[in-house]
Amino acid sequence: MTDLRPAILSLSASDLEAWLVANHAPAYRRRQIWGWLARGAASFEAMNDIPKALRSDLGRDFRSTSLTTVVNTEADHALTSKTLYELDGGHSVEAVVMRYADRSTLCISSQAGCPIGCPFCATGKFPFGRNLKAHEIVEQATDAVRLLATEGRRLSHVVFMGMGEPMANYQSVVESVRRITDPDLLGISPRRIVVSTSGLIPRIEQLAAEKLPVTLAISLHAARNELRDVLVPINRKYPVDLLIKAAQGYADATGRRVSYEWVLLAGVNDTERDAKELGRLLRRRLAHVNLIPFNPVEDTPYRAPDRASIRRFKEWVEGQGLNVTVRDTRGREADAACGQLHERVMRERSAAPKVAARVPSVIGS
Ligand code: SAH
Ligand code: SF4
Repeated sequence: MTDLRPAILSLSASDLEAWLVANHAPAYRRRQIWGWLARGAASFEAMNDIPKALRSDLGRDFRSTSLTTVVNTEADHALTSKTLYELDGGHSVEAVVMRYADRSTLCISSQAGCPIGCPFCATGKFPFGRNLKAHEIVEQATDAVRLLATEGRRLSHVVFMGMGEPMANYQSVVESVRRITDPDLLGISPRRIVVSTSGLIPRIEQLAAEKLPVTLAISLHAARNELRDVLVPINRKYPVDLLIKAAQGYADATGRRVSYEWVLLAGVNDTERDAKELGRLLRRRLAHVNLIPFNPVEDTPYRAPDRASIRRFKEWVEGQGLNVTVRDTRGREADAACGQLHERVMRERSAAPKVAARVPSVIGS
């Protein structure tokens, strides 16, 4: 049966304080409850400096999270883990935790599915589901904190590079960033948050005015309209030159260097011509180029380039005077690119009896 209790993080600070007062508890308990969630508490019961009666009132009226874990996969000797969550109402989204020597990064989803429909992306292949609410985005982060705490790690960075187009769910994304950066909740510096977009220009301009200096990543993938119209269909509405202008406006307003993402597709956008066009577009700008070797997705016409072509393309781009790095291909086994675990589970679900994808033994395997 559907659990109708609201998730605790769906309440604003003042709403939770009002509830506390109505339940004969002091308003300052709100900070304490958020503090526990920020440290990865899995239940109200675990919040042991909160009076027992209040903990049970909390449990009567709220859920500690609205997310239900469907499946968990690991890769890179457990350095990468990916969780598929079911949302209220049945859609599902995924989040990926990547562990490095000096940081732990969470890749978060902002929509169930994506309306943009890039032809190389697993997320774009499914019909669009719905926008996530702010608390559903934040809950991915509190769950990652919980997971990392069991390993003695802290969540240090958050990237909006999971399922969905963050700028197409603007209000909830901005609200979730405010919560993730709020010292009362997760307290992660906006400088350690990356919002990646396929290029919704009006929203980029709006974000520049928010005084939230997150790092902006533009999913460029092609420097000429003719190719970008195909790879990132929103380009037909917001063409490359206007997009770069908006991104530059963001850099000027925030003082933050913009990242440009470039998924390398063999024979499609990894030629010398592409590197030259990219150079012409970005030279002398506050920019950094991230090359992402394509993570193969079934039923697409694209292939990943081999190592030699990746190196060659990097050199061509460097030759244009640009800063460039090749992103590591973390989490291939965990289906870690955009929507791939979701895609696999959906495929299994449609091929097998409905419960098959939910077998709990998969968790932690
Ligand atoms: N919708 C936003 C954010 C999510 S996608 C955007 O497109 O920017 C995050 C990044 O993953 C984007 O740069 C996207 O192009 C890239 N990506 C999607 N599918 C991929 C794949 N199969 N292999 C490698 N990168 C992929
Ligand atoms: Fe959507 Fe980003 Fe995937 Fe394009 S790459 S379909 S914008 S999630």
